[in-house]
Amino acid sequence: MMFSSRSRPRTKIVCTLGPSVQSPSRIQWLVEAGMNVARLNMAHGTLEDHAQAFGQVRFIAQELRQPVGIMVDVPGPKYRTGNIPSGSFSFGEGSRITLTSRREGAAGKIPVVPVKPAGIHRDARVGNRILLSDGMITLAIRQVQGEDVLCQALTPGKITSGRGVTTAGVEPSLPFLDEKAMAAMEFAARQQADFVALSTVTTSDDVVDARNMLSEMGFDGGIYSKIERARAVTNQASIIDVSDGIIVARGDLGTEIRLARVPIVQKELIALCNEAGKPVITATQMLESMISLPVPTRAEVTDVANAVFDGTDAVMLSGETSIGKYPLEAVRVMAEVATEAEKALPYDAMLVEKREHLEPLTDDAIAYNACQTAHQLGAALIVAFTESGGTAKRVSKYRSRTPVLALVHNERTRRSLTVSWGVQPVTTRSLERTDDFFDRAREEAVRRVGLKEGALVVLVAGVPIGLSGGTDLLRVLTI
Ligand code: PGA
Ligand code: MN
Repeated sequence: MMFSSRSRPRTKIVCTLGPSVQSPSRIQWLVEAGMNVARLNMAHGTLEDHAQAFGQVRFIAQELRQPVGIMVDVPGPKYRTGNIPSGSFSFGEGSRITLTSRREGAAGKIPVVPVKPAGIHRDARVGNRILLSDGMITLAIRQVQGEDVLCQALTPGKITSGRGVTTAGVEPSLPFLDEKAMAAMEFAARQQADFVALSTVTTSDDVVDARNMLSEMGFDGGIYSKIERARAVTNQASIIDVSDGIIVARGDLGTEIRLARVPIVQKELIALCNEAGKPVITATQMLESMISLPVPTRAEVTDVANAVFDGTDAVMLSGETSIGKYPLEAVRVMAEVATEAEKALPYDAMLVEKREHLEPLTDDAIAYNACQTAHQLGAALIVAFTESGGTAKRVSKYRSRTPVLALVHNERTRRSLTVSWGVQPVTTRSLERTDDFFDRAREEAVRRVGLKEGALVVLVAGVPIGLSGGTDLLRVLTI
């Protein structure tokens, strides 16, 4: 087979779970093929399904002794097609179709498709377009009559239930945190998910509101904002400020802004997140054709590699793993393509460039200089001791060519690092004194990475060791 080598890239891989990988053995395959984070998309499936998948991932990760993060994706207000009486129907270009806020649709000469939640009639403007299924189908709005929106198809297509419906140029007039979102957040808190993804945020206030709600529910994981609305792009800087990480959600984004702008927005978002030292995930349609075929297109392979060159921390699979025919192959392709791209990254130039954004902060200075020192001395490894994960994330920010082993002493912190580029987190017994760290780093470097006598290791930590806080210790050690 063309894509066969098993390599663990430094770029992290997020896989969306779903019917294609609904068994412990399939989840085990995904982990073995390189999945670092499992995403549960709460827009689809039942709470029971998600609870079961959650349990399976935790179980398999423990069996394999691998850190696997779980991300609960909280649906945002979004119109979707409701129940289609006949399951699905096809239509030709020019056909008339009515979308309605009423609960029931109807078959018939002019089919009536219910759209949930109610409200599409408020957001439909005559002359505007409606995009279905991430833009696969375009309808022109001809007339709005009460709760009905009378449309004409500009493309042929097939409508099924549960597909996204976008009123191009008009944001849905729906509250940001609805009942479905609350239920998903409660699920994330109850299950102690590692990350929550917030769909369709438009302002930093949306994120702050969700954060407050989540912390009241007892959630203390990372909060990732999905950039998929035009207004979120406008507000990207302030949204990054209040988020723990970002997802470039290219699927919906491509229907909300001009498609040709998507690659530019991707690059801007990644650059801003890199500068802020916050993980960024590039998502959607990366290997789309692999939903039905075992090999990707050249364009897809190039897209994955380019996301790595842009500086993404992680790449994400959606339909490829959740409903696709080749979930395992898709993860393998991703891992191999990312590994190859990483070999070609201009690490020297990246380090010089990042130097320009250095702030006069001890944390940043130490993390940067750990990478710089490792590079200058040709060290074999950077070992970061990290109580909260902070030190490891700061080292990740500088994208060193030298591999980074993060020593943590609880599984939760370990999983919090599953999105961060280039960090391999392992658990170790807790440390009492700073000197213990030096001995332990040596021991773990030999045990986990197989370093031989004479190898150079760069150590970073915060002192006093064992308390979470800054990064202020840098040491070079010879094994
Ligand atoms: P979704 O988000 O898969 O939840 O829609 C990702 C995207 O829109 O790209
Ligand atoms: Mn989306």
